[in-house]
Amino acid sequence: MRKAFLKKANATLAAMKDQLMAEIRQDLKQGREGSKDDGMDTYDLASEERDREISFILTDRDRGKLQAIEDAIERIADGSYGECESCESEIAEGRLEAMPFTRLCVQCQGDRETEARQNRRVEDDRAYRRLPTADLDEDSQ
Ligand SMILES: [Zn+2]
Repeated sequence: MRKAFLKKANATLAAMKDQLMAEIRQDLKQGREGSKDDGMDTYDLASEERDREISFILTDRDRGKLQAIEDAIERIADGSYGECESCESEIAEGRLEAMPFTRLCVQCQGDRETEARQNRRVEDDRAYRRLPTADLDEDSQ
């Protein structure tokens, strides 16, 4: 990976994180305003407690996104950024520009999606086969 590219990716990721955190804080503030009677000033809370609250209100999707961004920033710092986690080849710069926190090259991402679809189909089959006998088992006394 070129240094200039890494620098740009780092800035992009930092901006994405700021943006996400700003949205989360905005949600938190709005939530607070809905319950005014506790008389507590949000900004007097210790930052540790604020962080806890922030992680509490995060949706799984936000949490996953934040984690992905933070991981990518770490990978830039330790020099493993831009390397596919599965096949270890370099991820195309164009792909990293579109998805700075991706961990997989196009090929492996595609493989994984195909795999996930196949697994889901297997799970569905199993669930379907379990059904007919489910309520006839020894549960009835
Ligand atoms: Zn790969």
